[in-house]
Amino acid sequence: MERLLEYFVPEKYKLNLLIDKHKKTIGGEVIVYGEAKNEVVKFHAVELEITDVLVNGKEMDFKADGKILEIKNVPLGEIEISISYHGKLNENMQGAYLSTYEYEGKTETIVATQFESHYAREAFPCVDEPAAKAKFELTIAVPKESNDVVLANMPELKLSSAPRPAGPSPRAAGAMSRAAALRNTPSQALASDDDYKTISFEPTPRMSTYLLAWVIGKFHSHTIKNKHGVEITTYCALNQDVQSVDFANEIAARALEFYDDNFGLPYPLKKLDQIALPDFEAGAMENWGLVTYRESMMLVSPDATLGTKKSVALTVSHELSHQWFGDLVTMAWWDDLWLNESFASVMEYYATDYIHPEYKIFESFFTGDCYAALMRDAYKGVQSVHQEVKSPEEIATLFDGAIVYAKGARLMLMLIRLMGWENFCKGIREYFAKYKYQNTVGDDLWEALKPFAEFDPKKLMHAFIDEPGYPVITNESGDFDKFSQQRFLLDGPCEKGEWPIPKVTEDMSGHYVLNLTDEEFNERLKDFDKLGLEEKLRLLIDRDLISKAGLQSAASLIPLSRQFTDENLAAVWNKVAALISNLTIYVDEDSPEEKQLKKHTLKLVDKKLTEVGMKTGDHDDENQIRLRANLMALDYYAEDEARFKELSSWYNEDYQKMDPEIRDDILSAKIYLEPKMVDEYLKKYQEISDPDVKFDYLMAATLVRDEKELDKVLTLLNDTEVVKPQDQLHLFVALYRNPKSRKKVFDWMTENWDKIKETGGEKTLGDFPMVIGRLARTEEELKKFYDFFEPIKADPTLTRAVEIGENEIRARISLIQKNQKEVFEALQKA
Ligand SMILES: [Zn+2]
Repeated sequence: MERLLEYFVPEKYKLNLLIDKHKKTIGGEVIVYGEAKNEVVKFHAVELEITDVLVNGKEMDFKADGKILEIKNVPLGEIEISISYHGKLNENMQGAYLSTYEYEGKTETIVATQFESHYAREAFPCVDEPAAKAKFELTIAVPKESNDVVLANMPELKLSSAPRPAGPSPRAAGAMSRAAALRNTPSQALASDDDYKTISFEPTPRMSTYLLAWVIGKFHSHTIKNKHGVEITTYCALNQDVQSVDFANEIAARALEFYDDNFGLPYPLKKLDQIALPDFEAGAMENWGLVTYRESMMLVSPDATLGTKKSVALTVSHELSHQWFGDLVTMAWWDDLWLNESFASVMEYYATDYIHPEYKIFESFFTGDCYAALMRDAYKGVQSVHQEVKSPEEIATLFDGAIVYAKGARLMLMLIRLMGWENFCKGIREYFAKYKYQNTVGDDLWEALKPFAEFDPKKLMHAFIDEPGYPVITNESGDFDKFSQQRFLLDGPCEKGEWPIPKVTEDMSGHYVLNLTDEEFNERLKDFDKLGLEEKLRLLIDRDLISKAGLQSAASLIPLSRQFTDENLAAVWNKVAALISNLTIYVDEDSPEEKQLKKHTLKLVDKKLTEVGMKTGDHDDENQIRLRANLMALDYYAEDEARFKELSSWYNEDYQKMDPEIRDDILSAKIYLEPKMVDEYLKKYQEISDPDVKFDYLMAATLVRDEKELDKVLTLLNDTEVVKPQDQLHLFVALYRNPKSRKKVFDWMTENWDKIKETGGEKTLGDFPMVIGRLARTEEELKKFYDFFEPIKADPTLTRAVEIGENEIRARISLIQKNQKEVFEALQKA
């Protein structure tokens, strides 16, 4: 792929922008200082109308095709390029985009940005590549009457610290007012216009274009200062309770302190702003000094659950670790995206564990991210953590959560544990000191860590990062003193493969599965209580995967699950639930076998759930709350009507009067017994602004089994006024999970594919085949999948997801054929 940095190396951008949310326009003057390496220079400029280009004050001919702006006959060396342009503010959650919410009967509009990975080019012409680091001086004019707040990476430039907004050079200024006069192009000239107010920001440090950000709108906020003197302000929309920013503020304060202490370099900027946006494609974005979040990933109201607090703590910690790893030091190219994400995805656990040790957050890592990585990484065609990128469209496909994030984090954890935390931090400190404000590749990190490791980090990490997959390890003698390995696969027999594993351990550190013989397995099971938590989890997770691969019998999971009826650890129950979920693929809906599996499940949880009780107790600790949630989820699967009756008697129209920890259980039980509640739930969904509570109502509505009622939920897929495009995928997944709506929701997807492409954003497009691949299990579903996706899979945002999805469904079908009879027999005995 062509790199524009080879033509021109930018040093500094002066952006004088006029952003008018009412007219849905953005435009102005971009003045770029830098070095021309070629007499042709090129800028990324997607769907921007370029009106004028001047080089060193001289008008130039140019060509713009809606993707690239090309300027010819440019003098080599240091030059100043001034580009006048205008563009549109869209609603697809990338580039500079519009986001809306309702407040006091009025629609409020926000302008926000999402530039990662390659969307800065949709907002202004630039060399939009991570290695093209430059300083940015930003000036934004907005309509005065809207009375909006304008936030950006840096603090507002105060008049006392500079004479006037750092204006363009006289040469460019002359050119600009001419351009403005000629075409009425919004520009600095408008700063004095009565209709607009102009805000300038302090210059940024050297940074990549994808980290630039601004947000314009009305918000409320709280500000705190952490122990190291950094001022942190967290904002939310006016329809949200301002108290709900306090948790994220507090986490941010503590996380920055943690990173300051461990990374050896204090947080590099003067302030940190965080803001929750009503429309947001991903979970959050680490823009330097102005971190943006999806509301559900940042807000913690008094009605939030422990689970929400944990996920917000992780998300905030993740984004803030990027302020160093990603923002201060950045990957040179997108193939090393994992450098950013693997690091942030493991650091979020270390920081959260430091701030809230009582969360026992690493347990969530092992049962969550780590398990997801093991599942995904076991299919043919899965991407490697380090992945070549050949076209801009491919950049969007890199963000595979289970690989670049989760598997990457698992590998970093393996490395950190082998090195020891202190030694790891010593290496990291050298890395930051050496590469701050610059770009790196993976090997720069391994070299920095090497002096502090007793092994070669480069050799170990390359083996796991450059190739997909992981080994299944078979014991040859002693406790894995000698072992053999093969690549573990869920969609075919194991293949040849070898990884340089320094030491096999039975905790959760290593990215591999252990293929224990029945004898070895039973020996460990006998002394289960004496095992450490991680050994317990490995035993269950590995057995789960091994049975999915067909290496051990699936039927054996039934007697195995019975071993845990007295278990007290929430994390173990989480894995018991995974065993049951493994078995659900074998039983058809409403079949006698399904009834048997449900009966078996009820028998598993009944005793413990009676003991724990369904209501949150005053003295419940974190484990107890999670334990109850895991038991209740199994109990829901078991269709335990007696408990449903009790739960639904606790339903209250005022959601604040329900126990937040079991709010979703109450809502699910109620709608199970009373399908007509759909109307009320959907009404609540629209009325309530708390993102957590809203979501609970919507998800509960998708569980209804009455087809007429279910159709009311299905129609919401077409109503983006009610269910925002950012939530469409979640709704789709929930409806695909419900066997009663599975067919209909698949048809909806095929009929509305063009619209989904338009509104959903390209990063989530591949999630549709991915989700279906995870759940479909019949020949008919496979055929529909194939018929629809095969003809369109040349689209690089879909190719990999479609191929793996197909493999996954095929593997599941053959597993069912192979094991079904045996599972049925075991169920009869259960
Ligand atoms: Zn990240």
